[in-house]
Amino acid sequence: MKQHELYMREALCLAEESVREGGGPFGAVIVRDGEIIAASANSVTLTHDPTAHAEVNAIRLACANLQTHNLSGCVIYTSCEPCPMCLGAIYWARLGAIYYANTRTDAQAIGFDDSFIYDEIARPLEQRKIPMTQLLRQEGLEAFEEWRLKADKSEY
Ligand SMILES: [Zn+2]
Repeated sequence: MKQHELYMREALCLAEESVREGGGPFGAVIVRDGEIIAASANSVTLTHDPTAHAEVNAIRLACANLQTHNLSGCVIYTSCEPCPMCLGAIYWARLGAIYYANTRTDAQAIGFDDSFIYDEIARPLEQRKIPMTQLLRQEGLEAFEEWRLKADKSEY
């Protein structure tokens, strides 16, 4: 457990530094076989990027450092329970485990409410706040068909 706490403290330090440097109060560290592969804070406001959450930043950095899109064999330490976007990214990246410090309720208490996104996901499409309209499905399927038939594709 000591080792886990060490990596978590790294993530927590990043979160605290981030607050002082003008970013959001979140940090994340990705570790493989006892080695830190990537570490990042939230940089949403600093980089004008709403997807620049600490976990997404750390995943991008880890993938660039390891030159892969698959982080299986790695684990993530994040200063806060991941939001739905980051949780999705963590699953896409195939990370093996998630260690978190603060809960989404703790984040909500300081103005970061992602519970509404969890609520939205659970709603039928037509009941969501952002309208979703289907268009040109037949034409959209053409790229899918080309992918299905492609013999030398890199599946992921
Ligand atoms: Zn997030």
